Amino acid sequence: MPVYLDHNATAPVRPEALAAMTAALNQVGNASSVHRYGRDARRRVEDAREAVAGLIGVRPGDLVFTSGGTEANNTALRGHGQARTLVSAGEHEAVLQARADAETIELTPAGTVDLDALDAALAADRRPALVSVMLANNETGAINPVDRVVEIARKHGARVHCDAVQAPGKIAVDAQALGVDLLTVSGHKLGGPQGAGALAVLDGRPLTPLVTGGGQERKQRAGTENVPAIAGFGAAAAAAQADLDRIAGLAAWRDRLEAQARALCPQVQIHGAPAPRLPNTSCLGLPGVRAETQVMALDLAGVAVSSGAACSSGKVHASHVLRAMGVAEADAESAIRVSLGWTSAAADVDAFLDAWARLVRKHGLAADAA
Ligand code: PLP
Repeated sequence: MPVYLDHNATAPVRPEALAAMTAALNQVGNASSVHRYGRDARRRVEDAREAVAGLIGVRPGDLVFTSGGTEANNTALRGHGQARTLVSAGEHEAVLQARADAETIELTPAGTVDLDALDAALAADRRPALVSVMLANNETGAINPVDRVVEIARKHGARVHCDAVQAPGKIAVDAQALGVDLLTVSGHKLGGPQGAGALAVLDGRPLTPLVTGGGQERKQRAGTENVPAIAGFGAAAAAAQADLDRIAGLAAWRDRLEAQARALCPQVQIHGAPAPRLPNTSCLGLPGVRAETQVMALDLAGVAVSSGAACSSGKVHASHVLRAMGVAEADAESAIRVSLGWTSAAADVDAFLDAWARLVRKHGLAADAA
């Protein structure tokens, strides 16, 4: 049986999502049409809006559906209208590449945003700003103190965007309690289809849309809604919410995985471990063995994990997140990411540990090698 431990790259589609997508695909209808078919499509979109809004603690009317997390991030980062844009150094490329003029706030060695540096950067220039800090890091699972980011931003009158793509379905997310103005989510990280996401606009201030044309999504995102994908996203959101307690339990398996990895190879590095983390993510460094070598060996053993950020796979350079945490280049190049999820079983952790132990022994790195 193949072992899939790459949920942070994309999660297997949940059966509820597949059923909702199939039902939507089997039914004609443009959600803007007035006849019964259009009204049926509209209902599917609005049901999904309620489910996704419920998962992240916003009002359904706050949500703008997009083609995914990347588009939602670009909409927020390009359309916010503030003079300055500040982003944390640990952000996903979908934020980092969205604006060439963004100023970068460094990370602490634990992998969360440096709050003092953020405060100082905002104090140094009084022009209106947008601060973008992710909720949970896709590589390390480190959870940022977004409520503190908001407090600091408010002190300086700045607007706050949060890329929460990795968090919903893994931890409880309440965007209103966090106090952010804009929040990005993506369907395929929680068991929905790829190519469906949303931007929550909590402060009601319009953004300059990236895509213009029809007046869909309150004129914030033109184009006929992708009804099957949105319906699948909604069904996955509802299922993920119901599954949150079980997912929280993944932390025990993740901790066992790390403890056994440490016992086997005391030199193993666990990046982000000092920070509060998602329950499902482990970023493991095996000094001296390149991540690509590890990923390929594990793949041959039937275990799927990724090196660095899988969203930009194929890259050979060290992860920018680990580099921003002060991890040495060579160590950053030897880190893999193991991410559990809703399909994971305890046996998957055993299968990973077996395959990883063979790799460790092959490279003469096992504690009992001498
Ligand atoms: N933001 C984060 C933190 C991510 O991990 C990803 C994907 O890995 C994205 C944004 C991009 O989302 P999407 O794949 O839906 O475009």
